[in-house]
Amino acid sequence: MAINTRKFDVVIVGAGGAGMRAALQLSEAGLKVAVLSKVFPTRSHTVAAQGGIAAALGNVSEDNWHWHMYDTVKGSDYLGDQDAIEYMCRRASEIVYELEHFGMPFDRLENGKIYQRPFGGQSQHFGGAQATRSCAVADRTGHAMLHTLYQRNVSANTQFFVEWLGLDLVRNQQGDVLGVTALEMETGEVMLLQARATLLATGGAGQIFEASTNAFINTGDGLGMVARAGIPLEDMEFWQFHPTGVYGAGVLISEAVRGEGGYLLNSEGERFMERYAPNAKDLASRDVVSRALTTEILQGRGCGPNHDHLLLKLDHLGAETIKSKLPGIRDIALKFAHVDPIEQPIPVVPTAHYMMGGIPTNFHGQVVAPYKTGPEEVVTGLYAVGECACVSVHGANRLGTNSLLDIVVFGRAAGEQIINDLKGNHHHQPLPDNAAEFTLTRLSRLETQKDGTSVAETSAALRKTMQHYCGVFRFPDMLAQGINKINEIAQQVRQTEIRDKSRVFNTARIEALELDNLIEVAIATMVSAHARLESRGAHTRDDYPERDDRNWLKHTLFFSQDQRLDYKPVRLKPLTVESFPPKARTY
Ligand SMILES: Cc1cc2nc3c(=O)[nH]c(=O)nc-3n(C[C@H](O)[C@H](O)[C@H](O)COP(=O)(O)OP(=O)(O)OC[C@H]3O[C@@H](n4cnc5c(N)ncnc54)[C@H](O)[C@@H]3O)c2cc1C
Repeated sequence: MAINTRKFDVVIVGAGGAGMRAALQLSEAGLKVAVLSKVFPTRSHTVAAQGGIAAALGNVSEDNWHWHMYDTVKGSDYLGDQDAIEYMCRRASEIVYELEHFGMPFDRLENGKIYQRPFGGQSQHFGGAQATRSCAVADRTGHAMLHTLYQRNVSANTQFFVEWLGLDLVRNQQGDVLGVTALEMETGEVMLLQARATLLATGGAGQIFEASTNAFINTGDGLGMVARAGIPLEDMEFWQFHPTGVYGAGVLISEAVRGEGGYLLNSEGERFMERYAPNAKDLASRDVVSRALTTEILQGRGCGPNHDHLLLKLDHLGAETIKSKLPGIRDIALKFAHVDPIEQPIPVVPTAHYMMGGIPTNFHGQVVAPYKTGPEEVVTGLYAVGECACVSVHGANRLGTNSLLDIVVFGRAAGEQIINDLKGNHHHQPLPDNAAEFTLTRLSRLETQKDGTSVAETSAALRKTMQHYCGVFRFPDMLAQGINKINEIAQQVRQTEIRDKSRVFNTARIEALELDNLIEVAIATMVSAHARLESRGAHTRDDYPERDDRNWLKHTLFFSQDQRLDYKPVRLKPLTVESFPPKARTY
């Protein structure tokens, strides 16, 4: 069947910080660049980032990139690739100054330099002073970054395809990637966007969990596209959970609440953190608190009719403190939990926050997969950056404010790599006759499905299953049951039916197509978690509580077709400095 085709030098799927930083590099080099986004670019999830962007500027405390590198390697629980981590930390200062010169309105110190604040995992160097490394624009750093990058792209003539849904990769017989198929939401038209280079920057996939801080659009579309094209997903067992998300909504309740003296209660009215962390109590580290909440729920001491959440009490702080110090939190509690924290506790659950795994890439943004030459052969024509990619700089656990850094450093690096790769390659490769067939078959299945399953019910079951069987704390029998459950749900996903067949802005069709991606991410997560017999970073196994470097200092690769797992070594050798060998991780 014929399909409308348009040609670009580069097609980028995703207009968050990662996609827009790459687009800027490419458009300024004179290339014809198309950027697709499900939403208006400045509504991408990057806009929600609050805390800051890490760089060892040393404006507040003594600091240098080598310490930043050490903290990141340690924070990753030694699973991060040290060449990529060195690359990121070395380029951090330059990339932040570049953002400053682009017009990003950083907060200032008295002396006019960029304001920096301390964050978790920024360790004590030089006789005990904590490194203060996160460059911030109030509590709206991501907002400022995204708007700055959008404006620069507009002036560089980047072409945006707003409210377009990227569907599938187009590959030829040799496996080279030649572009993507996509659906224009406004008209329902499907088109093929042909490109000499295709870059995925589709962000996170927190929507596989019931409780998530992620936006509704974070459905792991890039991962689904890659998995369906036969390319593996890396380290999908590693998900970061934040301990206090609003029950039912997942919206973040900042650690500041507990900093001001708020504390957690179970259904028996017990201040349970005293049992798990006698010293730090409610202010223990995020993974410790998340594990404690989950244990309380699993042992039947959760609150509410379903015993499925805990309570965060802060009324004892008094109305005045709450109104002056935590006004934003009160707002969130009123809007999303329908409680006024001046009078009532906020119902909370650990909430999925960040995906450490993703599409395997090197630090040039090139997608790599096992093939003839070894575990990291470059997939010609395909690149990935941002939260959807696994470089891997975050390893088993990401440090706060390292993601905004990751997206701009590797967004630019991928742009530079693509410019280089396209220099000797001025022509589009011919498209195979059946280029769009896979997508068209998928769509026609959806149009003609009879007596099928409901998209809303199936995705709700998926989220519930992931939350229950593959959450903060992982038990062997639950992971085994979880694999069966998620495979049953996968069967239902293959039979989804939409009643509304209209073309114009049909969100039912879009949600059905997104579900095809969510299921890929969910299965990869469950199967990879079941197989990793150790606890490392955010992956906590009840039956294997220790890290096991002898057997498990390696990256997971999950192949969707046969749910096969493979592994590849961690890159322990940095680019120029000495390696940081694994050792016990204490804070
Ligand atoms: C609430 C919250 C607070 C955070 N705070 C911080 C912080 O303070 N510091 C920090 O370092 N990190 C923080 N993070 C993490 C960080 O913000 C994200 O990891 C990062 O912004 C992701 O950027 P991205 O460009 O990869 O993806 P996103 O910004 O999520 O953008 C993804 C883009 O892809 C598009 N897209 C997706 N699928 C398709 C498709 N099929 N077709 C077309 N377009 C598609 C979307 O429309 C969007 O434009 C936070 C995250 C959250 C959720």
